[in-house]
Amino acid sequence: MKIGVLAVQGAFIEHERMIQSLGAETIEIRQKTDLNNLDGVILPGGESTVQSLLLDKLQMKQTLKGMIEDGIPTLATCAGLILLAKNIDNAPQSHLATLPVRVKRNAFGRQLSSFVTSQNVGSITDYPEVFIRAPYISGIESGVDTLCTHEDKIVGVRYKNQIGLAFHPELTDDSRIHQKFLEMI
Ligand code: GLN
Repeated sequence: MKIGVLAVQGAFIEHERMIQSLGAETIEIRQKTDLNNLDGVILPGGESTVQSLLLDKLQMKQTLKGMIEDGIPTLATCAGLILLAKNIDNAPQSHLATLPVRVKRNAFGRQLSSFVTSQNVGSITDYPEVFIRAPYISGIESGVDTLCTHEDKIVGVRYKNQIGLAFHPELTDDSRIHQKFLEMI
């Protein structure tokens, strides 16, 4: 099983370690040819505007978008969720736009820019959620399942092959979300 982790910017190493600890192989996606022969894709946290610019510059955006639309299992966290979202409330344009949700960037306010809570994520109980300048999901279209909320805001969804999370499962010791993702493959 070969999981590609987008490695142009952001917190990709932590995802790689988590996936490797579960016995799967990872490769860092840094150029278009790295997209060949993958079984799954992870889009990490970081800065979505920078990641999107780099995807354009490296001419990877259309290929990656096509792979996700064709059904490759995809786990996206924080900035990754913003890359996937079809609409962004407070940004001029969307990026990969494969996930039929609306997100709001940096949505939890300055004082709450970083915080940790524990919640159920789908069938996973008491999962430690780490939020860092996180977005929330301000709207979903039909077919999108809500996995978890924080203070009435949606912070995790699944749509077909795509899991989008506003928080950072790779920054915890808890590999249950990555395990679930590998089970989608
Ligand atoms: N606020 C960042 C963005 O808009 C996301 C933050 C994160 O990934 N920790 O891209």
